[in-house]
Amino acid sequence: MSHKWIVGVDLGGTTTKIAFIQDNGEIILKWEIDTDNSDFGKNILKNISDSIDQKLETLKQTKEILVGIGLGAPGAIDLEKGLIYEAVNLGWENNYPIAEILGGVTGLPVVVDNDANCAALGEMWKGAGNGAKDLVCVTLGTGVGGGVIANGQIVHGIKGAAGEIGHITVIPENGAPCNCGKTGCLETVTSATGISRIATEAIHTYYNESKLKMIFENNSKISAKDVFDSAREGDQLAIEIVDKVAFYLGLALANIGNVCNPEKIIIGGGVSRAGNVLLNPLNQYFQNFAFSTVAQSTSIDIATLGNDAGVYGAAWLIKANLESK
Ligand SMILES: [Zn+2]
Repeated sequence: MSHKWIVGVDLGGTTTKIAFIQDNGEIILKWEIDTDNSDFGKNILKNISDSIDQKLETLKQTKEILVGIGLGAPGAIDLEKGLIYEAVNLGWENNYPIAEILGGVTGLPVVVDNDANCAALGEMWKGAGNGAKDLVCVTLGTGVGGGVIANGQIVHGIKGAAGEIGHITVIPENGAPCNCGKTGCLETVTSATGISRIATEAIHTYYNESKLKMIFENNSKISAKDVFDSAREGDQLAIEIVDKVAFYLGLALANIGNVCNPEKIIIGGGVSRAGNVLLNPLNQYFQNFAFSTVAQSTSIDIATLGNDAGVYGAAWLIKANLESK
């Protein structure tokens, strides 16, 4: 099937990324469309189908060249039925049958998984995974997502909610509220939003000079990037905030490491662009908290695919499906 193409779809709340990908992982074409969640999201899958048809026409190809569509969706997925249990952001009713509807309009086989799981599969296939079959992927963006891969397979759990790393409780008492309804989740302290909140709170109880105070005076907000940039320049308060972020992330990753002992833990998402200013203290805390064999054998690496991880991993769903037959 080397001349055939797989469609990888990364369905997001505002934007949907789509790519035609060969089974060797080479991207033929990738593009984005808006996600139209009006009218209970009834246009979303139709728009994806129409957009695929348009691009095929542009490339002077027919649907014959496509072997199937892999799709990553933001929520817990019933893999057998290809439905999403709950997707409030997309406007869909509960248990929305993605595979059935998209398969119906396109006439192609459709395999669906959670978007964070797809990002993990993408990194395994073409990114920082570099051949590792046991890996954990943590995406630090506006929220915190996770995917756990054991022996090349995503760990899904009984209701598709395995790998919800962002909602591991790291502050058991008096933690900040999380979008999930709990408090003190990892997401509340290590997402871009969480880091920004910690920094904004910290300047009000910090009595020395700090670059972060100037940034707040000028912009009335402090971004996660501001914190990492200032820490890199040696700002003491910023260094303390990064240390706090690294502490909680290191704690959570060490506990995950003790459960899975993966070859690699891959950190992706916008926050991972901080690079060594985060990775150095993170490695230190990971070493402190992890069981010694885990500390010695599990490495922490930065993701390499950026925003493309999702479409690669979605395409991998079809590739893996074909190869298992
Ligand atoms: Zn939570």
